[in-house]
Amino acid sequence: MGKEAYSIGANTFAFFTRNPRGGRAKDVDPEDVAAFRAFAVEHSFATLVAHAPYTLNAAAKDSRVAEFARETFADDLKRMEATPGQLYNFHPGAHVGQGPDVGVEKIAAVLNEVLEPGQTTMVLLETMAGKGTEVGRTFEELAAIIDRVKLDGRLGVCLDTCHIWDGGYDIVDDLDGVLDEFDRVIGIERLRAVHLNDSKNPLGAHKDRHEKIGQGHIGFEALSALTRHPALRRLPLILETPTELDGYADEIARLREAWR
Ligand code: FE
Ligand code: FE
Ligand code: ZN
Repeated sequence: MGKEAYSIGANTFAFFTRNPRGGRAKDVDPEDVAAFRAFAVEHSFATLVAHAPYTLNAAAKDSRVAEFARETFADDLKRMEATPGQLYNFHPGAHVGQGPDVGVEKIAAVLNEVLEPGQTTMVLLETMAGKGTEVGRTFEELAAIIDRVKLDGRLGVCLDTCHIWDGGYDIVDDLDGVLDEFDRVIGIERLRAVHLNDSKNPLGAHKDRHEKIGQGHIGFEALSALTRHPALRRLPLILETPTELDGYADEIARLREAWR
């Protein structure tokens, strides 16, 4: 993964801790980890952003689904310590008709069970588009979860540009206003990573359909400005655009070019 990222001009990457649809994870191979860590130092890699499986729903109504979330979360966090000090991002969950308040309580309860005082991994709640019954579509919902977690020093937020745009936050015409609101509601120091995506849909659509950088409703200018914003420019920026390896290489090159 490190070599592939390096080959397209990246100095960070996201990876799934297991099959994104869930299931058992491969055992950690200590040799592979050691080789990666040496490569990352040699090529000045930044912090990595692991992604939890999509099927993990900490807000689930069904107790088996909730149990899977707890077990997967705990197992992933143990495995993440093989590469200390990285980020682990997850979709807060879907309340499936129980209401956002119940969703918030359940997600916080899972976090209170799985976070360990000694862990070096930061757990990030991802901002969501508000599709279906997703929890985390407003900064207030994320703040409510964080407020209920005891070891909140291990918690942060990953800002997905497609999701907050679809959620109604205007990062095209008022990026400063959106970040001020983030700071007021959550605290800007919680912002630890960005998923950099364009959106196939207009502001507030609540759809969550990612688009290639510059080909959607957010556009290249706004996304590029975001990567250069003082509050964001030092964070790991992860592309989740619907493209292939050469497409990512091109997006990275264009964004880097605008950075200079
Ligand atoms: Fe995600
Ligand atoms: Fe994302
Ligand atoms: Zn998405």
